[in-house]
Amino acid sequence: MKKLIDIIVGVRPNFIKVAAIIHELDLRASKKAGINYRLIHTSQHYDTNMSGVFFEELNIPAPDINLDVGNIESSKQITTIIARYSKVLEEHRPDMVIVSGDVNSTVACALATKKTDPTIPLLHVEAGLRCADKQMPEEINRILTDSITDYFFTTSRSASDNLLHDGVAPHKIFFVGNTMIDTLYQNEQRFKKPIFWDVYGLRNKSYFVLTLHRQENLADSATLTNLLHAISTAAADMPIIFPVHPHTAKMMKQFGIEFASNILMTEPMGYLAFNYLVKNASAVITDSGGVSEEATVMNVPCMTLRMHTERPETCLIGTNMLLGTSPRNIFSAFEKLKSGHWPLGRNPELWDGQAAKRIVDTLYELLKNLKEPDQAILQSSSIGEGSYHTNLLN
Ligand code: UDP
Repeated sequence: MKKLIDIIVGVRPNFIKVAAIIHELDLRASKKAGINYRLIHTSQHYDTNMSGVFFEELNIPAPDINLDVGNIESSKQITTIIARYSKVLEEHRPDMVIVSGDVNSTVACALATKKTDPTIPLLHVEAGLRCADKQMPEEINRILTDSITDYFFTTSRSASDNLLHDGVAPHKIFFVGNTMIDTLYQNEQRFKKPIFWDVYGLRNKSYFVLTLHRQENLADSATLTNLLHAISTAAADMPIIFPVHPHTAKMMKQFGIEFASNILMTEPMGYLAFNYLVKNASAVITDSGGVSEEATVMNVPCMTLRMHTERPETCLIGTNMLLGTSPRNIFSAFEKLKSGHWPLGRNPELWDGQAAKRIVDTLYELLKNLKEPDQAILQSSSIGEGSYHTNLLN
């Protein structure tokens, strides 16, 4: 009988991380014996800008199951996803569940899996990241998810070391590289000029890109206002393109924040236009983990407005610099950039576009060695051949 894997997505960075894995699974679909996968979308992000556009641009198949959770309060979101995904698991037991990243959908589906049937192997893509700041909601999600994960796919040696430090057995950790970077390489030739490029008169390396959505920068009006003021002043006469995350838009409205004229706000952008913009920018100013990874690989200076990072390699050998939120640091970073002394980046180890291949090779090995579950559970898990997305084992 074909094995069934559930692949969980819920928010923007999940789509980008799993796209490469899905394409790799599909690529092997012409060989004999198989894997089926079900793509489960929690709809933590659900609208066109934050979800639909990524399915379309990255050629991700429509989800098999939508848990339709929507934008509700965080703990309610987690409990709703747990309840709805548990029901899915009870109806059809998969042979494995794959979660990625560090969002509510990640931890909620991990918990649903282990509470419904602890024998289902749980795999975490981008496991082991830690920033040592438990005020950060994502850090809690990472720690909780990894505490019940069975197999860990890591993007760096430091992430693997974090897991070893937490007592994870070495044979359960697979340092495979970064699927977000796979997706970047697979689409680099397709990056496209944003429609506002000519309207704003943008030229290569003569503008900045800004993204902000972390809780630490949106906690109060003063923090956000001071940050935006410092960035706008430091950028002087250069435009700053700011695709505004929906949560940030909500907080800005709540705080009544007004903008300096060199900050040009847009809706959240599609992947292809956003990364065209990043690739050709003078620098990126961000609090996003994924954007700092992409900037590193594209060798674009990256200023991160956070106190900590769970991605130390983007700073140690990449183009990323941690500035915190102090205006003084922001001004000195812009000075460094203008003086041409921003360090050049190198690609972190195994960020070579092959991470998804390594993950799928490992999946095949793990599935081959999987013990059959109880007969009772097996019966409820039997699905018809060809149901869901079919993939085939070597
Ligand atoms: N991104 C995008 N459009 C935007 C902003 C970001 O396509 O307007 C992409 C970006 O290229 C990266 C991902 O979204 O792949 C990062 O997502 P986000 O910053 O929301 O999450 P984080 O990485 O901080 O978890």
